[in-house]
Amino acid sequence: MPFSEFQLLRPRGLSEAIAVLDSADKSVRATRVLAGGTDLLPSMRQKLFEPEYVLDLRLVHELKGVRETEEGIEIGALTTLREIEHSQILREFYPVLTEAARTVASPVIRNMGTIGGNICLDTRCLWYNQSLAWRKSCGFCIKKDGDLCHVAPGGSKCWAAFSGDTPPALLCLNAEIEIASSSGTRRITLRDFYTGIGDNYRKLQPNELLTRIILPRNTAGYSGAYRKLRIRGSIDYPLAGIAVACQRSNGCVKDLRIGITAVNPAPMLVQGTDSMIRNGSSPEQVAEAAADLAARTAKPLTTSALTPEYRREMIRVFTRRAVSALLAADN
Ligand SMILES: Cc1cc2nc3c(=O)[nH]c(=O)nc-3n(C[C@H](O)[C@H](O)[C@H](O)COP(=O)(O)OP(=O)(O)OC[C@H]3O[C@@H](n4cnc5c(N)ncnc54)[C@H](O)[C@@H]3O)c2cc1C
Ligand code: SF4
Repeated sequence: MPFSEFQLLRPRGLSEAIAVLDSADKSVRATRVLAGGTDLLPSMRQKLFEPEYVLDLRLVHELKGVRETEEGIEIGALTTLREIEHSQILREFYPVLTEAARTVASPVIRNMGTIGGNICLDTRCLWYNQSLAWRKSCGFCIKKDGDLCHVAPGGSKCWAAFSGDTPPALLCLNAEIEIASSSGTRRITLRDFYTGIGDNYRKLQPNELLTRIILPRNTAGYSGAYRKLRIRGSIDYPLAGIAVACQRSNGCVKDLRIGITAVNPAPMLVQGTDSMIRNGSSPEQVAEAAADLAARTAKPLTTSALTPEYRREMIRVFTRRAVSALLAADN
């Protein structure tokens, strides 16, 4: 399906990008930000977005690269997933992130796709990520052009699932993000970026850009693992995913963090892991309890081709396996 007509804007620096976004924002039809384009462009072909302007960030070189700072590590929003996957410093100090990045799509897509695009990724649903003709034949839905939800009929909320691989890893690492606009920059925890509502899933104004991701020093050195369920092993979005990061000292687990994705409208950090590790449980008991907590946090619905029951069960299985493997390796 061809694209609807749009005007391509190519700023050559961050201040120009922000100024362009600020003025284009006042137009009748919206502007869409393009980073690697690996999610936006297929969605534009499906007429999920028909912007008047597309703001291409690829010449904004300030937003590229991984740097060490006093606070920890800073990653530019335009850094490709391939660069993250191969970054020596990230692999050494934040392995859960490189593992998660390595599972995104395929090598070709990771060469183009960026971490900023992965964080801002649109939520997904079987009834939404379809061609215009397909969606029209079903009477559309709340997320785009309609007023009913096929997944939870009778309700007024959209439950499309957030399906990015790196955000659960970033949540485990206590990542913060920087957002810039013509009024200045603001910094928030990644956890506060998502709303948990499928059709309005992120707290980003039309005139704002995600510029940097900050990984703090206090989670550097945590061991990590990422597991995902997908239909095509070689190239696919997660239908359930878990990230685990763990800090050990003198053989004891000091901190265990679990992030889940693709089973709720937002990536989520599993709550309650503190009490689990404080009561002196064995590694097997910790893995079992963590798996239970993660499965209870997951609330998948029929937004994908696999059943909610199976996806939830796989959250349990992956969590148990990943926690067991990390605790065994750290011994
Ligand atoms: C076949 C296929 C398989 C895929 N499999 C996976 C997968 O397994 N896991 C996965 O996580 N993803 C997957 N993806 C989706 C996508 O490739 C990745 O999520 C990628 O990281 C998106 O980054 P991008 O730079 O290409 O984003 P874009 O497509 O350019 O943008 C995505 C969204 O983010 C917004 N955006 C991007 N950067 C910024 C910024 N700096 N500030 C504000 N808004 C911004 C855009 O406006 C858009 O809404 C797949 C895509 C395809 C086509
Ligand atoms: S969850 Fe409902 S409203 Fe949201 S995209 Fe799916 S069918 Fe549409």
